[in-house]
Amino acid sequence: MVSIKTRGLVKRFGDLVALNQLDLDVEAGELFFLLGPSGCGKTTLLRSIAGFHIPEEGQVFFDDDEVTQLPPHKRGTAMMFQSYALWPHMNVFKNVAFGLEERKVAKNEVEKRVNQALDMVQMGGLGSRKINQLSGGQQQRVALARALVVRPRCLMLDEPLSNLDAKLRVEMRTEIRRICKEFGLTAIYVTHDQKEALSIADRMAILDGGNFAQIGAPEEIYRNPSSKLVASFIGETNFIPGEITGREGEYFSVQTAVGTFSGRAVGFLEDPAAGAKVCLSIRPECLSLSDQKTATNRVPGHLDQSIYLGEIAQYSLKTGQSDAEVIRISELNPRRIVRDTEQTFYATADSEDVVILPPE
Ligand code: ATP
Repeated sequence: MVSIKTRGLVKRFGDLVALNQLDLDVEAGELFFLLGPSGCGKTTLLRSIAGFHIPEEGQVFFDDDEVTQLPPHKRGTAMMFQSYALWPHMNVFKNVAFGLEERKVAKNEVEKRVNQALDMVQMGGLGSRKINQLSGGQQQRVALARALVVRPRCLMLDEPLSNLDAKLRVEMRTEIRRICKEFGLTAIYVTHDQKEALSIADRMAILDGGNFAQIGAPEEIYRNPSSKLVASFIGETNFIPGEITGREGEYFSVQTAVGTFSGRAVGFLEDPAAGAKVCLSIRPECLSLSDQKTATNRVPGHLDQSIYLGEIAQYSLKTGQSDAEVIRISELNPRRIVRDTEQTFYATADSEDVVILPPE
């Protein structure tokens, strides 16, 4: 197992700063995700750690060894890309063996290690199959075996599941976590799929324009986002602008155009003072639809849309004249669906679920 560290990492493409002085610490054996909007620098960071990019400034360490200038094969990393890049004319065994033959590993050792790698991904006994005789999920397992057969110190995964259908993606993500944990691999994983990250990551980093917006465990990022960007990028949320009016214990009170709220101030370096402009973030599943007017933590409106999905009911509550003034509510285990568009309803929340963020 190896830990990975970057210090002051800068990668530029011409005038564009793709990575801006990044300090990252990935623990040995950790499954670490990189997420963020398109073009934020995820792949560039992954490739800089793997050795496919040499940074203009800063350093990369594997444990205490500096590897910044080393080529990929000398870092002991293995990379798995979204296109599996398997050779269709070769059988499964040959595809997996390729990396070992290139390294001039002895023939009997190659056979032993390829079979071990195929067993790891539950493809034992399928070595003689042609690649074009495999399903998408099986091809993906072969690609994983090919990355693992060289016994990498760490595994770099760039959108490894994006070619698979939704059901297989769910199955394979669990499989990837099992393999990483069983074999003590440190892994860095780039994805656009936040569910993939939330479900199997030990920790994740959200990147924004070459900077880290936030680093933390999935539940930390979801429950305590540090900014509007993170709150809206991971999961869905409703934003309501307001102003701090006071504090009671751990909760702050906020005056908004639709009423008074109390909530947790998250993502501030210093506690916000009275008068500070803020933005509330309340996730749809934290809101309930009520016909009772509570004193605080409620948004009044009229139902715009009611959708019954069995395990969940989704409501849009129109809170003003414009189409943008809509609050989304997701009610779990709905015992009834409300469709009355005339009555005033209230979206109500618990203070614990009202997150107060900086306004921008
Ligand atoms: P996506 O989610 O779309 O794959 P990303 O977060 O992985 O994006 P990167 O591929 O790391 O983003 O790119 C970061 C920035 O660097 C982007 O603005 C991109 O256009 C730019 N970039 C990446 N590679 C190169 C390159 N070889 N030459 C010039 N610019 C590049």
